[in-house]
Amino acid sequence: VLSVAELRKSFGSNQVLKSIDLSVSQGQVLALIGPSGSGKTTVLRCLNGLEIPDGGRVAFRGGPAVDFGQRVSRKQLAALRDQSGMVFQHYNLFPHRTVLENIIEGPVQVQKRPKAEAVREAEDLLRRVGLHDKKDQYPHQLSGGQQQRVGIVRALALKPALLLFDEPTSALDPELVGDVLHVIKELAEDGWTMVMVTHELAFAREVASEVVFMDGGVVVERGHPDQVLRDPHEERTRQFVHRLL
Ligand code: ATP
Repeated sequence: VLSVAELRKSFGSNQVLKSIDLSVSQGQVLALIGPSGSGKTTVLRCLNGLEIPDGGRVAFRGGPAVDFGQRVSRKQLAALRDQSGMVFQHYNLFPHRTVLENIIEGPVQVQKRPKAEAVREAEDLLRRVGLHDKKDQYPHQLSGGQQQRVGIVRALALKPALLLFDEPTSALDPELVGDVLHVIKELAEDGWTMVMVTHELAFAREVASEVVFMDGGVVVERGHPDQVLRDPHEERTRQFVHRLL
């Protein structure tokens, strides 16, 4: 579904991504783990066009590779953005719009789909995550776990080729984490392709098809969850995993 080659990004003199290669195939769940500041969020933001990489190539299935070593047009960027749906750590819902309005915004305003169809699909998705009765409420009237499930539905409503999750449960109270992880697990079982930044290593082991460990802006190690999380080859991975498990 996705291939990324030699992705680079700096903020001023801080070289955050040094040369990242990734590939994600259809139906795969890739868990991106690593210490704070290692560049995980920046990878997702580059994939979603929220940050413009300084170099490297990103290609989605069926689309041409976008080469950030050259000038990238708005149109190329918009096409890239359209391929993925992002779920943010802090939900990022529009506070003055209802749940339903938040969900149909992208499909109607950006994708120019008919409103009635977008509403019908949004309602179906809300039913699936048990929130249909909240559709006319505002984000502040919902718990964090409910807001995050709306955040997930909002990403799904775009029908992206790839779902990106940026630490989707790290802002939640512990008792609300389970509901959100449950929804993510069901999406994985339904065959959605996803890249997920997470500190929930037990969850990564259960759901991910591959774990990628990043440190200092490079991919240090990748492989099957059991191997990377239980028997890492690299000392840096071992130290990180032992601290968290
Ligand atoms: P965490 O687990 O803490 O979220 P992370 O691995 O996701 O960490 P990033 O958020 O990608 O790491 O950040 C990597 C580095 O890039 C950090 O040093 C951060 O300060 C820096 N950085 C990220 N975004 C910006 C920005 N917009 N401007 C300047 N520096 C930034």
